[in-house]
Amino acid sequence: MLVHLKELLKHAADHEYTLGAFNVENLETTLGVVRAAVAKRSPIILQVSETSIRYAGLKAITNIVQTISSVEAGVIPIALHLDHGKTFRSVAECIRVGFSSIMMDASDMPFMENVLLTKQAVDFAHGREVLVQGELGVVRGLEEVSPEERAKLMTKPEEAEEYVRKTGVDALAVAVGNVHGIIKMRKGNPDLDLGRLEAIHNAIPAIPLVLHGASGLPQSEIFEGMKRGIRIINIDTEIRLSFTNALREMLMKNPTVFDPRELLSPSIQAIQRVVEAKLEMFGSAGKATLINKV
Ligand SMILES: [Zn+2]
Repeated sequence: MLVHLKELLKHAADHEYTLGAFNVENLETTLGVVRAAVAKRSPIILQVSETSIRYAGLKAITNIVQTISSVEAGVIPIALHLDHGKTFRSVAECIRVGFSSIMMDASDMPFMENVLLTKQAVDFAHGREVLVQGELGVVRGLEEVSPEERAKLMTKPEEAEEYVRKTGVDALAVAVGNVHGIIKMRKGNPDLDLGRLEAIHNAIPAIPLVLHGASGLPQSEIFEGMKRGIRIINIDTEIRLSFTNALREMLMKNPTVFDPRELLSPSIQAIQRVVEAKLEMFGSAGKATLINKV
């Protein structure tokens, strides 16, 4: 069932686990993620990006998430979130159709512009009881910036307190060496700057921190991040990879199969397996029981 992210964040803090936020873009990815949550009795966040909204249509993807969350998930709590909202307009549209949380990503802008744009989104969202995730520092793909540039783009702990105080965000995406995208899956992840993460957490201990670009991060790094205030971990690339790899294999092995349902079923199962492993890793497996006594 769909619940407000506020409830899940409170529950995760009280019971010391981290929420997985999984990107979905169609029926099949949503089914794969939700079936994993059901199998593991885990609360989860389902999130959509602006590109997925352009691909599927806001109403269509929202209805898919809402319907699957009630029909397939039953009492398993699921929160719906906008990932990387770049404009006030997309933030407002998602709030209008029932998202309980949005991200306003103005991290590309200079500090004060980031603050102003995010504050504008916060004022609008909070007036409608919707949570806001901001981003300070910039998370980029491995192919986009050099290691030196990435170091410069990391979140500055000394700015984090001011940013949170001036914007009023409910959660903060941090850049601590994490990277978006597919290239790192082949080349290996850079290490997280755990000292920086700890300093950020100490500066704003009440604010849940969000780790973007966590696909492919080893378990040890994830654990160290969770110890230092990471309360939400975004997984996107691994979902898309598992979907596509399973589909490619299915097509290669079965050149005569033409039924999309038959072709796509292994992809749904592959996503489910990937997400189930993450839910175990994040410590959220089994935690739905505590919320709903199921
Ligand atoms: Zn991201």
